[in-house]
Amino acid sequence: MTENNNRILVTRSSMPTLDEYVEEIRELWDSHWLTNMGKKHNQLAEELKKYLGVPGLELLVNGHAALEFTIQSFDFAPGSEVITTPFTFASTVHSIVRNNLTPVFCDIDPDTYCLNADQVEALITDKTVAILPVHVYGHVCEVYKLKEIAERHGLKLIYDAAHTFGEKVDGKGIGSFGDASIFSFHATKVYNTIEGGCVCFSDEELGKKVYFLKDFGIVDEENITGVGANGKMNEFAAAMGLCNLRHLKEEIDKRRKVIRRYRKNLGGVKGIKLGPDYENGSVKGMDVEFNYAYFPVVFTDEFGAGRDQVFAKLAENNIGARKYFYPLINELKCYEDMGWSAKEQTPVAYDISMRVLTLPLFADLALDDVDRICEIILSTDNHLE
Ligand SMILES: *Cc1c(COP(=O)(O)O)cnc(C)c1O
Repeated sequence: MTENNNRILVTRSSMPTLDEYVEEIRELWDSHWLTNMGKKHNQLAEELKKYLGVPGLELLVNGHAALEFTIQSFDFAPGSEVITTPFTFASTVHSIVRNNLTPVFCDIDPDTYCLNADQVEALITDKTVAILPVHVYGHVCEVYKLKEIAERHGLKLIYDAAHTFGEKVDGKGIGSFGDASIFSFHATKVYNTIEGGCVCFSDEELGKKVYFLKDFGIVDEENITGVGANGKMNEFAAAMGLCNLRHLKEEIDKRRKVIRRYRKNLGGVKGIKLGPDYENGSVKGMDVEFNYAYFPVVFTDEFGAGRDQVFAKLAENNIGARKYFYPLINELKCYEDMGWSAKEQTPVAYDISMRVLTLPLFADLALDDVDRICEIILSTDNHLE
């Protein structure tokens, strides 16, 4: 157990032992091959393909680059519309806008907080080219409904799967749904390569296009046929990935214990709404092997304190929760000229963004600390006083 005055951050990066990492990078001192699709890079790509259960995979320098290059690979006409969610990290929408496309916001499901599949069709116009849902917090979008809608309207389906590393839906790797799915291996994610990411796909041509974009559009030494960029993962990052992959099962088992404890302490409390419990059978008709990525808590009016009060009380006690995702993307300063209105366009997302808090969660979070965090939260409920 950590001392009461110790600071608890919302997350803590998983790392192998120093010895294990040193062993993994030792051969780089012999080869002097540090980047440009080296041995570690290629080995990691193969191992991840198997682990994720996907037909094709391309590694990238980070999850954002994976998403931005993937969207670029489809060559959509400038100004085309992409239906997405405002309840996500800025990267999702930035990657649409940076490709000169127009995001169109769809509201979220009140239980999973993912894009509400039943509201997508009403937003489709003759300019729509793609749907870009996010499996937010590791919760799973309605993949079958979305596939049916995308196919019927001839739209591409690109998943931001940054939160769902290693998850399975009805026994299939979650990265195998849609035309493409991107993962993030950022230091704060369930699985990390320090910085890193990948795109998963079944169409090999898409993989080749992303490869060109991540390597300046180079075909060979004398032929550069595309205006690419640099999105390559280096050997030190890939080595970190190889090490962390060996311990992932153990890490996820530990996270599961933390979440079970949170659920035991907070489940059934009036005014506290937890995310879907994937251990308790199928959710929206899907059996999900969850990765325990985040633990979002929503405070309804029945709770005796608002989200911001709970946040402040935790901060007073040196506990770092996060207002994730607040503000919504359709409320960000950088988009204020767009004339978007989160309250009107996406009222459910707006409401959740005002009430949600993600609690500290990482593999080595002590269960005693989980108890203490929950006690502090419950003590803010002034109905109890
Ligand atoms: C982390 C994250 C990204 C970006 O990934 P990076 O590896 O940090 O570039 C994109 N989308 C979502 C939902 C994320 O959480």
